[in-house]
Parts: sequence; C-alpha cells; structure tokens
Amino acid sequence: STLKEYIPTYNYDESRIMARLSANENPYGPSPKVIQAITESISSGNRYGHQDASTLISMIAEKEGVSKDHIMLGPGSSDLLEKTAFVSFSNGGNIVSADPAYMSIISTARSLGATWKPVPLTKDYAHDLDQMAKAVDSETKLVYVCNPNNPTGSVTDPVKLKAFCASVSKSIPVFVDEAYLEFLDQPDSNTMVGLVAEGKDVIVARTFSKIHGMAGLRIGYIVAQPERIKSITSKVRSTMGLCVTSLKGAIVSMQDQEFLEDCRKKNAECRDFVNTEISALGYDVIPSQTSFLIFPIAMEGQEFMKSMYDSGVGIRVFEINDKPWCRVSMGTREEMEYFVDSFKKVTV
Ligand code: PLP
Repeated sequence: STLKEYIPTYNYDESRIMARLSANENPYGPSPKVIQAITESISSGNRYGHQDASTLISMIAEKEGVSKDHIMLGPGSSDLLEKTAFVSFSNGGNIVSADPAYMSIISTARSLGATWKPVPLTKDYAHDLDQMAKAVDSETKLVYVCNPNNPTGSVTDPVKLKAFCASVSKSIPVFVDEAYLEFLDQPDSNTMVGLVAEGKDVIVARTFSKIHGMAGLRIGYIVAQPERIKSITSKVRSTMGLCVTSLKGAIVSMQDQEFLEDCRKKNAECRDFVNTEISALGYDVIPSQTSFLIFPIAMEGQEFMKSMYDSGVGIRVFEINDKPWCRVSMGTREEMEYFVDSFKKVTV
C-alpha cells in the first residue's frame, strides 16, 4: 500500500484538544429535533427496537426507490462493511479497490485471508476504472469503491462509474461506499443507488455518522439486491445490534431536511475558507466535495502532528507516496479559523 498513517508517539490526551478535526465528524449534530426524539425514546429502552427498525427501513426504501427487502441496517456503516467482508471472504479470494482508499473493508478482508489488489488513483485522484476492471480476476470476490473517496475527498465521474459498476457487477458484486455523498452539490446524480433498483449486483453503503451528525449514535445502512442482503442476514444478526434511541433519532433526522441542508451549506463554506487559506500558502490541496480536505505538507509528519496537538488541534497525518499529508475535517467556522492560525504558526 502507498498509504500509511502517522500514529502519535507522544502521550495523546484528548482533553487538550480544542478543535477536534481528526475523525470527519459533523460539528453541528445531532439536530435539536433528533436530540428531543432520543431523549423521549429513552423510557422505551426496555423494549427491543424491531418496530422502529422496520419503520426506518420503510423510510429508507422509499427514499432510495427500492422495496424493504433491499435494505439492511447496522450500527454504523462500519458494521455493514465488516459483515459484507465476513460473507464475501470466508474462503479467501481477493478484493479490488483504489489506493489510497478507506481501509476498513480491505483490512477485514485481509484478516480473513483475502489478498488486496490495490489500483492507484489517477493523477486527478479519481478511481482508475479501466485498471480496476483489468484487476478483477477469477479469485475476486468483491470490488470496493469509496465515492467520494477517503482520505482524498475526491470524486469519480458518475457517468463513468455507473458504466463500470453496471459492467463489473455482471460477474462480481461492487460495493460503493457513499459515506460522504450528501456533502456533494449534486448527490442525486452521483449516487450509484439507482443501479440497485435496476437489478444490478451493487451494494451501496450510507451512514448517519456524517451529514446527520450521529457518529456516536451508530446507524448506517446498505442498499443491495434482496439475495445479497439475505446472504448476510442468513449468517449474522441484523437489527439485534441496534439501539432504540439511535433508531428513533435516525427516523427524525431523515425528515429534518432543513438541518441537513444547513450542515451541507456550512460545511461547504468552511471547506472553501480552508482551501483558499491553505492554497494561498502554496500547498496543493486536493479539490474536495466532502467534509474534509487533504494536502501534502512540507514538515516532517510526526513533528507537524505533535505541534498541532500542542496548539490544541487534532488532525490526521498520512503518508502517501512517501510524503506526509495533513487531513483536516471541517469543524465550525471558529474551529477552522483556529486551525488555519495554528497551521501558519506551526509551519513558519
Ligand atoms: N466509510 C467511510 C468512507 C468513512 O470515512 C467512514 C468513517 O469515517 C465509514 C465508512 C464508517 O463510518 P460509520 O461506521 O460511522 O458509518
């Protein structure tokens, strides 16, 4: 892999972080309506949440234009990435994905004995779909696409991606992780979920952790062919992992369009601000449509991370192609101003 991460060699004390910009969390959520719904739902915590899960599944099915048997919920999309890996790689095989990519499903696949076939992103940080199609062989069990991609924040052309998914999914399921989709200006024309409605063997993952601001509440879902969903739910439990509080919160969050739109707008404004400031300092920021930005830094990675930490800013530092890169999540405007000020002080 070309992607490595700098792990703090110093003693990391969370309470010293004033601007937590390290985990692509939404600084505005959960919405006030969600907080109210969750507070009221606590008293029903003696009951299992199967009915609420069914309600949420109905709402998701309607939104995505499929029937209920196309939906599976999980406590975050991480759970669904893992469960998909379990059923796909229990007999080894390989997984094809871009590099760098979000490593969750790849790590699980490898721990189950599968091999990873990484395909470098193009020079403009899109998926190299031709090379990925070529990498698929008789041992490939799953193709993983993260769009928009993490940690690069970049987007792959949706027309090309649709053609790729439609073609590859004739022989191998394609998993499209759309955790950051809702931050795009045009999510509807970028999602691959329409392919599922068309009967293609495509698995689309979404999460309430990002735009909905519910990362700690743990709800995510996949949309896939009913046989794909059954291949998972026949082996592992689905709704047993879900909390009634989070389910009730997700139901309300899906209806709170005003909150979601507000998050999308504020996120885009912060991203523009940081992009402009950091680019003006001469750094090559990758154009992002997500809730984070990444750019190569000139300083040694560990030293940079420690200096930012000392000023109370939590960011992530990756090594890509032997160079250190700073990945910064969008916080509030105030936090982003603090990030920029700290960055300038640290890198003089
Ligand atoms: N997929 C991508 C691309 C992510 O960046 C993340 C979290 O950062 C996840 C999935 C997992 O998120 P969660 O389990 O909270 O849904």
